[in-house]
Amino acid sequence: MKNKILILGPCSAESYEQLEKTYLEIKNNVKEELFAFRAGVWKPRTNPNEFEGNGEEALKWLKKIKQKYKTPIATEVGNIKHVKLALKYNVDVLWIGARTTSNPFLIQEIAETIKKQGRQDIKVFIKNPINPELKLWLGAFGRFENLGINNLYAIHRGFNVHHKSNYRNDPLWQIMIDFKKARPNTQIIVDPSHICGKRELLEDIMVESLTYHPNGFMIETHYNPEIAQSDKDQQLKPKDLASMMSKVKEREDQSSDPTFNSQISSYRSMIDTLDKIVLETLSKRFELSKKIGDLKKDFNVNTFQEKRFDEVMESRTLIGKQLNLSEDFIKELFKSIHQESIERQK
Ligand code: PEP
Ligand code: MN
Repeated sequence: MKNKILILGPCSAESYEQLEKTYLEIKNNVKEELFAFRAGVWKPRTNPNEFEGNGEEALKWLKKIKQKYKTPIATEVGNIKHVKLALKYNVDVLWIGARTTSNPFLIQEIAETIKKQGRQDIKVFIKNPINPELKLWLGAFGRFENLGINNLYAIHRGFNVHHKSNYRNDPLWQIMIDFKKARPNTQIIVDPSHICGKRELLEDIMVESLTYHPNGFMIETHYNPEIAQSDKDQQLKPKDLASMMSKVKEREDQSSDPTFNSQISSYRSMIDTLDKIVLETLSKRFELSKKIGDLKKDFNVNTFQEKRFDEVMESRTLIGKQLNLSEDFIKELFKSIHQESIERQK
């Protein structure tokens, strides 16, 4: 966790006492330095009858924490009014929620308000949009940059998907990989809390995320999650958060263990050799099918012969089964090999 951006704090600011207790417990338990202490003061709830945050009153509490403990503070903004108030109360880090990133009109007006207030220097963290659409996420960065707001960071908090998922928001890591390719100089942090939805899943998802080299984490924590007014299932006590983070660290170190590394690299070099054999074999196979193609042309026979295709599929599936390879995999593999053969024969 060294040199990583760490933003910790409750989902919402519920009272001054709740903020202070949570902040002090973080300070007493978490060794790493905080980039900012977070708390939502306007909560974008799905259900209008749920707790929607304490608004301006909560900004006063946050500002008091900032002054008393000399810590940077972070909150979510979703419209013009939010930006004006957050800047008025000296919030150091603004974050754009997933629902807001999905809406270019709101992003535009937020960016314009920051510019009008002369605060292009402010740090803005942009969460991925709710739906898995990389371009919409990148577009939000473009809107800020067009107005000279360049202190931008990304937060990966998972996506709403239709397939069954263990997570509240599926991580779909490929989108994070694609984001990093598109914006290699933008720091991106992971929000495991909103990916998981349940605190029990946090440790594993954090370890999993390390494969993609995030620049840090935003994690929700509450001095007493049982009484939290929003996202109670995914928040954990600062003490538990600290021990979870050390476990993640231990597991990260394990992956740099020399025995682990020498064994894995010996397996990998065996795989490299086998892959070469697979490719050489495929190339020989295509040479043969090219010969068959020429023969068919000489005798004026149609390229695609259904009976032969069925036979190939059936016999390969059988061989595959004996070799412990799944039927679906063999079918997909031979469909694509067969397609390539036909292309070549043409
Ligand atoms: C939050 O960070 O509390 C929040 C509302 O997150 P998201 O926009 O990712 O749902
Ligand atoms: Mn939350």
